[in-house]
Parts: sequence; structure tokens; C-alpha cells
Amino acid sequence: MNTFDQMVDRGHEQVSFHQDPDTGLRAIIAVHSTVLGPGFGGARRWYYATEADALYDVLRLSEGMTYKAAAANLPMGGGKAVVLLPKLDYRATEAEARALGRCVQALGGRYISAEDVGLSPQYVDWMAQETTWVTGGIDHCPGGDPSPHTAQGVVNAMRAALTHVGRDADFSGVTVAIQGAGNVGSNIARILTGLGAKVLIADIADVRVKRVVDECGATPVEHEDILTTPCDILAPCALGGVIDATIIPKLRCPIICGGANNILDDYDEDGVALMASNIVYVPDFIANAGGVIELAGVYLDLSPDDRAQRIAEIETTALQVLRDAESASSTYMAAVSYAKRRIDEAAKPRVTAG
Ligand code: NAD
Repeated sequence: MNTFDQMVDRGHEQVSFHQDPDTGLRAIIAVHSTVLGPGFGGARRWYYATEADALYDVLRLSEGMTYKAAAANLPMGGGKAVVLLPKLDYRATEAEARALGRCVQALGGRYISAEDVGLSPQYVDWMAQETTWVTGGIDHCPGGDPSPHTAQGVVNAMRAALTHVGRDADFSGVTVAIQGAGNVGSNIARILTGLGAKVLIADIADVRVKRVVDECGATPVEHEDILTTPCDILAPCALGGVIDATIIPKLRCPIICGGANNILDDYDEDGVALMASNIVYVPDFIANAGGVIELAGVYLDLSPDDRAQRIAEIETTALQVLRDAESASSTYMAAVSYAKRRIDEAAKPRVTAG
């Protein structure tokens, strides 16, 4: 499909391609929707095999951000940026970050950036020297690392899933298998072991697994096996697309609830297949909204109590969506309908008296 057809298909307002001759930066910024507010979403630095892969990723991620912000009741739309690295593990520099900051600034506030995979608060601070439309730094813009808040939101969503399947939501005797011992996965492991859960952890980087094992007493699992390991909750916290038609028949968990974006390879088919397999899937954009609530909340000047309350409310939102899904084709579609209802409500013209 060409770019315009993909935009029309997903409902994107704007996609812009950027290059900086001094640093070699190549970036794509997608603004999916500004109905509720500026398109909000992190920037991802990644090596993509093709430009089409990068475009697909940014379109999919920015669409998800629209639903995530709407479902979290934030006055924000959805956007995302991807930086196309020339090779894996390409070093991040201040010059590159500042070039990306200038690209964000050029959109005049239609897109507000933050960190996603491959970015750090330091990188965001560098961007913030060129643009006011970024959050999640330390010195030049507030917010910091969102992952502890994302992790807390995922744990709240897990509680909803346990309640939904008729189990106590206190995590004692609950086994959770986490794929990815990065920022989000390691924070989830820390919270869950503190609550008495048994945590199984896997990562392609052994050093990250070891850190979580040493810190929390988690049990290491080979990364090739983690998705099919018997557990009560499977928490994908690495990259997207890990739940697909091949893996679904091999899953040995009653619940999937993780921090990764776009966990399902195919929203429609995989969502339906999970439902048919009696596996409760908490849609990612509901479960992993904690970081966005925190950073958008800082940007919007919401108080820490208000932000924490909204992250706590992920549990009730997730429970509502899981109940709605009883009359939908999948939990994912129920969550999209939930988010779209909020957007439609906000988009309705206000009728004023007189
Ligand atoms: P991260 O880079 O810190 O961690 C990801 C980890 O996954 C890394 O340790 C990596 O080695 C590991 N990994 C990659 N492929 C793997 C595989 N096949 N098997 C096992 N491990 C593998 O990233 P993060 O910030 O923890 O984010 C993780 C996911 O959560 C991403 O999909 C991100 O988009 C999503 N997310 C993050 C936040 C946040 O606050 N950081 C918020 C919302 C969503």
C-alpha cells in the first residue's frame, strides 16, 4: 500500500519525513489525531531493514497513541516519531538529538515528543534545547524516565485481569512470565516480587536478566521459551508483534498483560484467536498508559496526586474493557471502541443556549 493509502486506512492527519545533512538523521513523524489535543507520543530510535518497515511502525504506533491518550482521558491526541538508524546499536549523540528536536519544533506543537525505545532522559534534554514540544527530560524539560509509571499501570491492569477471571487480585501464588528485562520489564518484576508474585524473566541480554534475578529473586527463563512457559500471566515487555498465529496455539497462560506496544501481530485475527482460546488479553494501550499519563500529566501541569490517581484508574478502565469485550469480537476491538467513544464525545459540536 502506498503512503497515502496507509494514512487513509488508519486515519492519519499528517506524516512528515525529515533529514538533517549535518548528522545524517532520518526521521518520520506521524500525527494520527489532534481531535482531543496535540499528537502525543515518544520517539523511537531503531534500525529498520527497510523504509517501509519504519513507516509501518510509526503509523501503527501513532494510531495506538491516539487510543491510549483517549482511553486514559487525557486531552491529547496521538503521534509518534521514529529515527531510522543506519545500523543496530548506533550511538546516540547530542547533535542527532538536537536535529530531531528541530524536526519536532518545525511541526509547531501539533506533535509533542517524549522517550520510547532507544531514547533516554538525557536524549530528551538534548532535544529540549531545540524544541519546547518535548517532555521526559531532567534538566531542560521535566518528566524523567516514565517506565516506573508504565510498570505500575501494567500491574494495575493485571489486577483487573485477575478479577475478571475470578481470582484474587493480590498476586500471592500468581506466576508472571516477563519477556524483556529492560526499563518496563524490570520495574514490573520489582513491583510484583514485592507483592508476593513469582516472577519468571527472560531477555536476549543476559546481563539484564542477571540484574533482575539478583535484585528481585526472579527465576531466569531462556528467551526462546518465555512466551510458551506455563504461567498465570504472560507479560510481553520487549518489542511488538510477539503474539501471532504461530505462537497462540502454544501459549500456556490464561492472561496476557504487558508493557510492550502493539503486542498482537494482527489486531483483528490475533485478538479473535486469543478470545477463542479463552486467553484474556488486556489491550496494550490500556495496560501501558502509565508512562503517558505521567509525562502528559507533567506537560499539562497535573498534580502528582492527580497523575497517580489516573494511573490507579487503569485498573477500572481495563476491567470495563474486559467486560465490554464479552459482546465484542475481541478485547482489542472493545478497547478501540472504548477509546473512540471518548474521541467522538469530545468531537461533538457543543450546543450553546440561545
Ligand atoms: P527497553 O529497551 O528498556 O527494554 C526492552 C528489552 O527487551 C531490552 O532489554 C531488550 O534486550 C529486550 N528484548 C528485545 N527483544 C527480546 C526478545 N525477543 N526476547 C526477550 N527480550 C527481548 O525498553 P522499555 O522502555 O522497557 O520498553 C519495552 C516495551 O514497552 C516497548 O515495546 C515500548 O514501546 C513499550 N513501552 C514502554 C514505555 C516506557 O515507559 N518505557 C511506555 C509504554 C510502552
